[in-house]
Order: sequence, then C-alpha cells, then structure tokens
Amino acid sequence: MTWEIERKKCLRCGGCVAVCPVDALVLTENGIEIDERRCISCGNCEKLCPVGSITVGGNR
Ligand code: SF4
Ligand code: SF4
Repeated sequence: MTWEIERKKCLRCGGCVAVCPVDALVLTENGIEIDERRCISCGNCEKLCPVGSITVGGNR
C-alpha cells in the first residue's frame, strides 16, 4: 500500500480522523499519522480532506 500525506498542506482540522471507520488516523503535534496496518483503504479521509493532503494507496 502506498500512502502519502503532504504535511505542509495539512490544516490540522481533524476531519480525516473523524471519518476514519477504523481509527487508523491520529492528529499529533507533527501532523497526521497513519497506522497502515489498520487502514482498509476506504478513501473517506482522502475525499474529505479540504486541501488534498492525503493520498491513499491500496485497492479501492
Ligand atoms: S482510507 Fe484508511 S485511513 Fe483513510 S479513512 Fe479509510 S480506513 Fe481510515
Ligand atoms: S482532513 Fe486534511 S487538512 Fe484536515 S487534518 Fe486531515 S489531512 Fe489535515
């Protein structure tokens, strides 16, 4: 799975954390962190992010 987070773009709004059904995202002082083992590649976070900061890999 290829995951990309452009941390410079991130607004730290927390929206992606809220829509993740498996709690794979965490907002830390360094920005968004992803637990790739939990992610089911649903794409919710990518669709929701207002600045296009997240690109989710895997099968969707
Ligand atoms: S793509 Fe992964 S990290 Fe993003 S909302 Fe879905 S399960 Fe969570
Ligand atoms: S939705 Fe986008 S801007 Fe908001 S915290 Fe997540 S990655 Fe950052």
